[in-house]
Amino acid sequence: MFIKLLILIIAAVVVYRAVKSRLGGQPHQKVRSTGAKPLQADDVMIQDPQCGIYFARRQGVVLQQDGREVYFCSDACKEKYLAKQQK
Ligand SMILES: [Zn+2]
Repeated sequence: MFIKLLILIIAAVVVYRAVKSRLGGQPHQKVRSTGAKPLQADDVMIQDPQCGIYFARRQGVVLQQDGREVYFCSDACKEKYLAKQQK
């Protein structure tokens, strides 16, 4: 009877330590993931004036026009936009 209780206590301690070490391991991964490069202004979502979809500015195609920058989701949209401007 006493031995059964002792085994139960040891088992409980082993499980407790396993859970504790597993929980203790998580903050390390969080620190690593937040160690990535900080959020940049280029990540802002903007709208394509040609097709109207929203995309991350850094993934877009930029067109310099009259001293300002116009962003497009693809080269195809940029070409269409330019063709429309020239009409
Ligand atoms: Zn587009």
